[in-house]
Amino acid sequence: MTEEILKVEHLDKFYDDRQVLHDINFSLKKGEVLTLLGPSGSGKSTLLRTLNGLEDYKKGAIYFHGKKINPSPKEWQMLRQKIGMVFQSYDLFPNLKLLKQVRLDQYLNAYPRELSGGQKQRVAIVRALAMRPEVMLLDEITASLDPEMVRGIEEIVELLSKRDHMTMIIVTHQMNFASRIADEVLFLENGHILEDTPGKDFFDHPQTQRAKDFLDSMDY
Ligand code: ADP
Ligand code: MG
Repeated sequence: MTEEILKVEHLDKFYDDRQVLHDINFSLKKGEVLTLLGPSGSGKSTLLRTLNGLEDYKKGAIYFHGKKINPSPKEWQMLRQKIGMVFQSYDLFPNLKLLKQVRLDQYLNAYPRELSGGQKQRVAIVRALAMRPEVMLLDEITASLDPEMVRGIEEIVELLSKRDHMTMIIVTHQMNFASRIADEVLFLENGHILEDTPGKDFFDHPQTQRAKDFLDSMDY
């Protein structure tokens, strides 16, 4: 039996009065790649940030190795060594508050300005891996890169999955990449999971019109 690393149960997330995640449920086994797809604003980043302890949640539970996470700053600080996260490069570097939250502010000036976007993302991936995490959360890590850089980063991520069997949750707008790497797809809209599909079925047989339209809009 394959070990379950992360499980999310009935998760609701609000920003002030506005609910942005509704009853999110899924589980992630060791070595699996879960891909989060959905239009902009559907809650993908919020979900990843919640799984990294960067957002609180009103209702529901997150389990790590079957143990319910007590959402205290101290516990999240410990868990962040096991749950690594890589952001869009333009998200990471200018956002001082976020860097402080993940205790990376001391690295702020550590990188020469000459680094390209692709190099920065390699550094970000390596830095996250240096903690030897059990899960990696990747939030559109190629989104701000030149097309030729995108392929190189995708190859690294595919190697992490196929060679190292790294367990990952990936948000991407690259549908070909997603269809190559996904063991399971969650399709979100307005904070709801509209589809939860194993393997490549989502790409071949989307169940909802919304998902069909989404894939069409992505030229897939
Ligand atoms: P996605 O990553 O799928 O584009 P987000 O998780 O960034 O979606 O956003 C989900 C919803 O939450 C959007 O309506 C967005 O405007 C809102 N949102 C995101 N971050 C914040 C925040 N810090 N404060 C208030 N609302 C937010
Ligand atoms: Mg996002």
